[in-house]
Amino acid sequence: MISSKLYGYAGEILRIDLENFEVRREKLSKELAKKYLGGRGFNVSKLYYEVPKGVDPLGSENKLMIATGPVAGTGFPIGARLNVTARSPQTGLLGDSNVGGHFAAELKYAGFDQIVIEGRSNKPIYIYVHDKEVEFRDADGIWGLTISKAYDAIRRELKDWRVQIALIGPAAENMVKFSGIFFNLSRPAARTGLGAVMASKNIKAIVVRGDGYVEVADPKGFERFVEEVEEEVYSHVQYWPRRIMGTSRILLAANRLGILPGKHFTKAILDYAFKVSGEMLALKYNVKNRGCFSCIVPCSRFFIVKNGRFAGTFGEGPEYEALGGMTVRIGNSDLNAALKAINILNDLGMDVISTSEVISWVMELYEKGLINRSEMDGLDPRWGNMDDVFKLIEMIAYRRGFGDILADGVVSAAKKLGKGYEIAFHVKGLEMIQADPRGLKGYGLGFAVASRGADHLRSEPFIELSDDPELGEKMFGEREATLRLGIRGKGKLVTYYENICAIVDSLEICKNIAENMDIITFDKAARLINVVTGIDLTSDEVARIGERIVNIERAYLVREGVRRKDDVLPTRFLKEPISEGPSANHVVELEEMLNEYYGVRGWDPETGIPRVKKLLKLGLEDVVEDLKKHNVELN
Ligand code: SF4
Repeated sequence: MISSKLYGYAGEILRIDLENFEVRREKLSKELAKKYLGGRGFNVSKLYYEVPKGVDPLGSENKLMIATGPVAGTGFPIGARLNVTARSPQTGLLGDSNVGGHFAAELKYAGFDQIVIEGRSNKPIYIYVHDKEVEFRDADGIWGLTISKAYDAIRRELKDWRVQIALIGPAAENMVKFSGIFFNLSRPAARTGLGAVMASKNIKAIVVRGDGYVEVADPKGFERFVEEVEEEVYSHVQYWPRRIMGTSRILLAANRLGILPGKHFTKAILDYAFKVSGEMLALKYNVKNRGCFSCIVPCSRFFIVKNGRFAGTFGEGPEYEALGGMTVRIGNSDLNAALKAINILNDLGMDVISTSEVISWVMELYEKGLINRSEMDGLDPRWGNMDDVFKLIEMIAYRRGFGDILADGVVSAAKKLGKGYEIAFHVKGLEMIQADPRGLKGYGLGFAVASRGADHLRSEPFIELSDDPELGEKMFGEREATLRLGIRGKGKLVTYYENICAIVDSLEICKNIAENMDIITFDKAARLINVVTGIDLTSDEVARIGERIVNIERAYLVREGVRRKDDVLPTRFLKEPISEGPSANHVVELEEMLNEYYGVRGWDPETGIPRVKKLLKLGLEDVVEDLKKHNVELN
């Protein structure tokens, strides 16, 4: 049944050289597919080998890559994602963001698994990829437009409502370091500042459209596998909550557990949590579900604000990170105003997580009397003062006045102002998400070691919320591994889920379902790969691919100078216990968990560098040679 043909993939990589406006189509090799699977794996391996150490993230040497996986476009019920990757202008390290929607499938139908963009255009353009053809179109008329206006203008110009568009907004054009690339209007690949990379190349949009199709290796086996996944998803206890509320349901749950980021992580519980919750959205605002391509859950929702000052505001989402960021983190109890703020952010094209950190950081400084109004162009950033939040969002996006100070992220803002560094909540330059790691110890470890900075999506050890010691014993031989306030076994927990997430992100299936609901194990991933691509892999071989991806990402960071000393959390989470609720009196005992983690990973516990033996076992001989050339202290 299995032939040498590579099923599942479109089979070609599109390489675009903007210095010369040249296009190359490269055949996708089976070797690359077997080593990295797709999406995140394809991108990070190219980033490691093709983008030299220390390049200017906003210079022409940086490469912007978009890749999807073998599953996208097959009709698999949760397979519609892609990764965008480059060297990050925000952190100077790995820039990477994963997004759903409809672009990934369309990219395959247009004939490509990956787009690699090199160089820099000498004028604003947008790139139109259709059925293997590439057009460079003038973007003078749309440069400067917001995401929604540019989206409409492109669809009008192309007279095709089925095109899928990745766009940047004014924030990216102004080189805001946490600007994103927006797919399907409000699905952002916004972490790590990739919008600014796209703007630095003078690209306003990438548009794809195709009439191709994706052929799977074993149609009957694929059908059986899909039926099994459907049954598992539909009968899962989390199906309806996820379908009705998406991740917005997390806000009220986080309040119950005492892990909210309220008022810049000073209030883990808030009495108005229900007023701004996913449950409230479902009751009063949501009008319709929306899904990514071929999704059976559809977890996204359209909302309308029906009353009050912001009546008529409508849009898609929000997910928990946006909802928590524009409500509890900045001390705002007005859901209508939060939805308005999220819409403004999306239209200007900025990452809501980083924006919520810089604004709540300023609010805490202001509350403590460490910054005054004259330093902030007269702004009055009291907790929940949404009129000034609206102003500040625009000031950041257009780099006006005080907004310019915040536009490079919280680390840079603390340096420029010469204050507030100890309460600037980031890891490796990437701002913290909306959950307090003092009440989620595995997440805390995950933030500290994640390859792109303070990020939950590299490991997402959701299972520790089960608080089921039997499960911990069964899966990791440690009862505490699956207790959210436990410490022992977290190294094994995070390593396992980092490896699974690397597979999920490379097959480009939805983590919300595949990983959070434990639908995809290494064993099932091996079956999926087999029926889709025809490649035969054992469960152990799939796990090794996940490990390889995590290790090449670590090697990339190591080459850029990252060591164990950088795997840290902000002091508040290590030294100041949560003051109330079910997580009270807890801090993150990071060092103990880190020691276990490095041991499980096979990384040197002194330096955090992968050992040579580990890299060789993963088939990364050339990485070892490269690190030696860069005088990295290997052992
Ligand atoms: S669960 Fe939500 S994010 Fe995941 S594929 Fe479905 S619609 Fe997209």
